[in-house]
Amino acid sequence: MVTINFHGVLVDLLSRKSADGAVVSFPLERRTSIKDLIESWGIPHPEVDKIVVAGQEVDFAYIVEDGILIEVFPISAQSDFGQPSLLRPTPLDSPRFVVDVNVAKLAAKLRQLGFDTLLPRNCDDNVLAAIAGCQRRILLTRDCNLLKRKIVEFGHLVRAESPNAQLAEVIKLFRLKDKIKPYSRCFQCNGLLVPVAKADVLPYLEPLTRKYYHTFHRCLDCQKIYWSGSHREKMDKILREILASC
Ligand SMILES: [Zn+2]
Repeated sequence: MVTINFHGVLVDLLSRKSADGAVVSFPLERRTSIKDLIESWGIPHPEVDKIVVAGQEVDFAYIVEDGILIEVFPISAQSDFGQPSLLRPTPLDSPRFVVDVNVAKLAAKLRQLGFDTLLPRNCDDNVLAAIAGCQRRILLTRDCNLLKRKIVEFGHLVRAESPNAQLAEVIKLFRLKDKIKPYSRCFQCNGLLVPVAKADVLPYLEPLTRKYYHTFHRCLDCQKIYWSGSHREKMDKILREILASC
């Protein structure tokens, strides 16, 4: 028999519940890696922060032996992806994201806070997983099976329903509060925004914008022009509410 003790929020993700909730025991029927065994219970490996067998941390390739007790701990706001760990030996320099279309609104909101965020459209799961793996981006999705792909190293199964609650969830989990640079990135295309002189953008402005606004930014990639208007005040208010809840 093998026993796995799933800790914390991992219990909510279990595909099969045991009477004990967090602890499952079952006969070992085949030779398997600990990654595959944990995932057979519905837990995608990017949601796992630490695995302990007989008091020793092990990595995802560990081959499970009969008779052991496995302790599985979830990623949490205490997990530091900027530091090497046994499961993720190469740390992330900075949090960058790739967002699945099933949480698409999260992409614009992360860009609004200045985070480098891709939102690939019309691509299959293979491409999405490859972008996450090859570019070392955190994959945000509601698709458990997508996160189980081996190439995905960093990722998170988004639990909240509303886009604002999803944003708060991601800010808390990946400790983004201190890294926020509002309005430094284009909401539409993820390009960087740079200050631009009013005279340079004058021909592209509506008459009222031309009259009342004096500070402008332009996206280096798509050339979209941004200025501080009433829409930005509304967004600032929403942002303040979200950050207060984190
Ligand atoms: Zn742009």
